[in-house]
Amino acid sequence: MEKLDPRGRKVKILATLGPASRDPDMLRRLFKAGADAFRVNMSHGDHATHAATIKAVRDLEKEFGRPIAILCDLQGPKLRVGTFKDSRAVIRHSGHFTLDRRDEPGDETRVFLPHPELFGLMQKGQRLLINDGKIRLRVIRADEDEILCSAEVGGVISDRKGVNVPDAEVPIPALTEKDRRDLAFAMSQGADWIGLSFVQRPEDLAEARKLMGGQGSLCAKIEKPSAVRRLDEILNLSDGVMVARGDLGVELEAYEVPPLQKDIVNRARLVGKPVIVATQMLESMIESPAPTRAEVSDVANAVYDGADAVMLSAETAAGEWPEEAVTMMHRIAKQVEEDDGYLARVRFLDTPPDPTTADALGHACMTIADTVPISAITVFTSSGSTARRVARERPSVPMMVLTPSMKTARRVALLWGAHPVATKDIGSFEEMIGKGKRMALRHGFGQAGGKLVVLAGVPFGTPGSTNLLHVVTLTGDELDRHRD
Ligand code: PGA
Ligand code: MN
Repeated sequence: MEKLDPRGRKVKILATLGPASRDPDMLRRLFKAGADAFRVNMSHGDHATHAATIKAVRDLEKEFGRPIAILCDLQGPKLRVGTFKDSRAVIRHSGHFTLDRRDEPGDETRVFLPHPELFGLMQKGQRLLINDGKIRLRVIRADEDEILCSAEVGGVISDRKGVNVPDAEVPIPALTEKDRRDLAFAMSQGADWIGLSFVQRPEDLAEARKLMGGQGSLCAKIEKPSAVRRLDEILNLSDGVMVARGDLGVELEAYEVPPLQKDIVNRARLVGKPVIVATQMLESMIESPAPTRAEVSDVANAVYDGADAVMLSAETAAGEWPEEAVTMMHRIAKQVEEDDGYLARVRFLDTPPDPTTADALGHACMTIADTVPISAITVFTSSGSTARRVARERPSVPMMVLTPSMKTARRVALLWGAHPVATKDIGSFEEMIGKGKRMALRHGFGQAGGKLVVLAGVPFGTPGSTNLLHVVTLTGDELDRHRD
């Protein structure tokens, strides 16, 4: 088994796979360069291709003996226009443009809108934003058959471009028929995380959750103003969230997104659920081997915000420089985390422990590591919940997450500061301490003379039993007396 050093950073890198990166060789390169988790975007590609991609990630996991999270991202009810006679048309500035129910190729005056829900819903004065907000239409008159708009900003429109309707709450569920098929497929493939797009209300999550049948974790993508308004309820029902800045920045003004990013990150951190900052992080690297200064700052600031993970989209899925993009993200994150002021900035958000034993001990892990030199926190967990509570405290040292559950190990690969290790169950206190020490030495989280904090719950394997904290010193001769 090839050995890979610890990443040496707390924030995680989530890289989207696609034609530029899904062959096993490029995948291995992205992983070695720093990708901790991979996103499979169900908006593109077919199930056979995704199955091959997922298998390649699992092979990689075996090759390096390190659990990797796979997030299958459902397309959701993304609205799109129909097609055009010449595949494209030009909408004139301040001209009129109509969206209607006639399933015929469009031109510069009209196009088919294959979403009956929008007719009778859109109202005078509301906006329709097309192609990432590049074209901006405002409704002049709308009825059951037509939506007549004036083009505040015109431009080139082409086949099946996306439509955002920020001023309306669309009465369609977050799961389309395609999403249901994709979700069933993702579950059959053992996806660790499901990304739910265009969540508008808490009920949207309940439906996905039901279809997931108790498997996998659910990440709500925050990309609608209505989801922002009901964020606390949505956070409560999800296992993590994504600041999906692509669509969020179209639905809202782009300049409204930065303060929201900070707010969403903080609120997710308060409840101890992982939060991913996504989209356009190193966008120019789709075509260029070097990012812009502003992109570098953006990634750095997401790390300073205390996000659990930063994401690459087209940079790794379809770009020309996928490996360089991951390497760049890794370097930016490391540089930030080496800054003496980093932890103070991240801990600017006060995350007081809940009145539970697990939180009291999680908090103690953080203060111990701040007080005495500790090389790592070693957490024994079955569900991963203890690891999340410790990560919530943003401790100064890495956290090894030892778990008999491969599912838990994979899932926490997206969690701030967590280094997952899948290992056999333990039966006794002595066994736990022995294993904690061996694993720290084996995985590069300590050496002879160093100290570890060990956190666990007895009886072992009982969820919610976290009640034991032990500080141990490594002697260095613990290694390789066991194979586990
Ligand atoms: P998408 O989601 O890439 O699936 O659209 C992310 C975003 O909107 O930012
Ligand atoms: Mn989106």
